[in-house]
Amino acid sequence: MKRTRIKVYGVVQGVGFRPFVLKLARSLCLGGWVKNTSECVEIELIGSEERIKSFLQKLRSSHPPLARIVKIEIVSKRDCDEQENDFKILKSEKVETARKENLWIPPDVGTCDDCLRELFDPKDRRYRYPFINCTNCGPRFTIIISLPYDREKTTMRSFKMCEKCRSEYENPSDRRFHAQPNACPVCGPKLTLLDRRGGIISGDPLENAVKLLKEGKILAVKGLGGFHLAADALNSKAIEELRRRKNRPHKPFALMAFDLNRISKFVVLSEEEKEKISSPIRPIAILKKRKDSLLPESIAPNNKYLGFMLPYTPLHYLLTESFEALIMTSGNLSDEPIIYENEVALEKLKNIADFFLVHDRDIYTPCDDSIVINGSVVRRARGYTPLPLVGKENLPSILACGAEEKSSFALSRKNTIILSQYIGDLKDIEAFDRYRLLIERFKDLFGIEPRYAVCDLHPTYLSTRYAEGLNLPLLKVQHHHAHMASCMWENNLNEKVIGVILDGTGYGTDGTIWGGEILVGDYSEFERKGYIKPIPLPGGDKAIREPWRIALSYLYEIGKEDLIKEEKSKEVLKLLKLRINSPLSSGCGRLFDAVSAFLGLRREISYEAQAAIELEGIAYEDEKETYPLDLKDRNGKVVIDWKSMWIKLIEDVKKKTPVEICAMRFHNYLTESLSEAVKIISARTGIKKVVLSGGVFQNQIVLRRLRETLTKAGFKVYYHKEVPTNDQGIAVGQIVICASKIKKGEI
Ligand code: ZN
Ligand code: ZN
Ligand code: FE
Repeated sequence: MKRTRIKVYGVVQGVGFRPFVLKLARSLCLGGWVKNTSECVEIELIGSEERIKSFLQKLRSSHPPLARIVKIEIVSKRDCDEQENDFKILKSEKVETARKENLWIPPDVGTCDDCLRELFDPKDRRYRYPFINCTNCGPRFTIIISLPYDREKTTMRSFKMCEKCRSEYENPSDRRFHAQPNACPVCGPKLTLLDRRGGIISGDPLENAVKLLKEGKILAVKGLGGFHLAADALNSKAIEELRRRKNRPHKPFALMAFDLNRISKFVVLSEEEKEKISSPIRPIAILKKRKDSLLPESIAPNNKYLGFMLPYTPLHYLLTESFEALIMTSGNLSDEPIIYENEVALEKLKNIADFFLVHDRDIYTPCDDSIVINGSVVRRARGYTPLPLVGKENLPSILACGAEEKSSFALSRKNTIILSQYIGDLKDIEAFDRYRLLIERFKDLFGIEPRYAVCDLHPTYLSTRYAEGLNLPLLKVQHHHAHMASCMWENNLNEKVIGVILDGTGYGTDGTIWGGEILVGDYSEFERKGYIKPIPLPGGDKAIREPWRIALSYLYEIGKEDLIKEEKSKEVLKLLKLRINSPLSSGCGRLFDAVSAFLGLRREISYEAQAAIELEGIAYEDEKETYPLDLKDRNGKVVIDWKSMWIKLIEDVKKKTPVEICAMRFHNYLTESLSEAVKIISARTGIKKVVLSGGVFQNQIVLRRLRETLTKAGFKVYYHKEVPTNDQGIAVGQIVICASKIKKGEI
């Protein structure tokens, strides 16, 4: 028999960790106890060495979804004679000497089942109270002002607990013991319904809000990390009105529905997706539309997916209860960051929302909803932030400034990387302000003073400018190398790999725009070993907004420019002929744009990647044929030439082949070209591990097909799950590249 004492560090409090430990210990017939201290969770285990070993294994592999174990420390280990079968939870212990470096902030947690039962129990004192929470659920990250996590250091400090709440809070056997945001209708936050001028609407705010939504009104609703704009999802008129007022003609709106039953009426859900969407993280899941869905097409026009989430606060449950589904889109103005303060909402959203459902619990740190596709996080925010990403090795203290359009930054602390929530496009001045505010806030909350900074190689990214203004040793990292490194680190790879990096735009080491790249390298260096043949983008950024220009550019290259008949064709051809304002780009996203425009799907876009998304959406996935592959060798690099693809595609269109078929043949062409290129590069280098990264991998056909073909060819393929494959993940790659250069003494 052994008696082993361990300390578990990381996000292990307020996330259902102790009950999990209790269950695990009992299932292994171990005796002992578990308790929270100010710094960690302490566990004593009594039992055979073998059982203790398997406890530790399971602790690492199957902890609760919101827990993150950063370190397990074995404090003591000794022999003991007496058998002990009882395992219990001990009273929490306050240690005055808690070190900030061991303190973590839990993310916001979706309403738990116990709280949900109380919410709809007429006999409960919190019946239909919109701010129910407990030790296992409720606001965390968004209300924490400083650490350690205590009510006095949250925005709940302005509410004084009533006697009943206080006794729950102080009773170790109560499920609200030390639940910092604990509240009830007597003592806690309250709802108010306001009109556009801020005037209070009398009566029950919630009942009135439901009534107004039923009438087709648009409401700004304050939630956990910010405001949503809400409308009845079955009301086409309300949706059209919201699109008009928000000046957002096509970009999909997210939806929220009361439970999985209601969501299943509109989209197809696998068991894994059901689990993910109902987890305490409650992300928006991108799900395939059902053909018999009754939702208006205008929610996500020309898109085969819908983004759905379950309610994650009691208020959301009470609102969605009366609807099949609600539109719940971020409360902001086009590219600006999410709004989270009552006065700002009233000011900024007065021309969009008819009414405002607000409350008096302040949001300290704003945070958008998170988005997952097929289990991979593509927007990391509420529910995830600020969970650390945990690696094996300690990292120096680094601030990574990220990219620009899907901006996000990261800080390293010991063996972890803390990636900020998604912030938005830094070109918007408010987003840039938010970015700077959040960097300061994260440094302060986590007690991190970075000693190095790292940013993108792009000279005009605002994140680059910001990094240059810091008084720190600075490393600039090539965009696609950062994508590759982020995927390697997430998958625990520390060796030379082949990286297939597909995105729209990234600054290359030769000053041109890259984005369809096959790299070979590790954390400290890389070589460009293959790429998609570049194309001039006539008009620069304008070409990205008007994909027909890119289609014209491709056709001009193969002498078929007369096939594009646009009003401004002549003008654009002039740019191409004279090579003015037409930067070269190997971006994979641009090839998608051009094919989509040529097939007549989308000649101008109103949101990022729209043309590509619609091309994926229309592709007939059972089609097996492909367009001809054409790989060329140029100075030892594999160049994917698209000329024969275009010629065949043009033939197909002339033959009136359905666009669904053409779209899929193009997807097949792209994935097969890439996989052939990887084979050539692998034969030259002997590398058999391939990482996939970049925004194009949000395209599920590209991701699936490339994984399939490469795996079949004997490669080990890695892709993103926790770190976004798009530019939000760039900061993670920047940190590990910087750390590796520091280690080598190159910085
Ligand atoms: Zn709860
Ligand atoms: Zn109370
Ligand atoms: Fe990128």
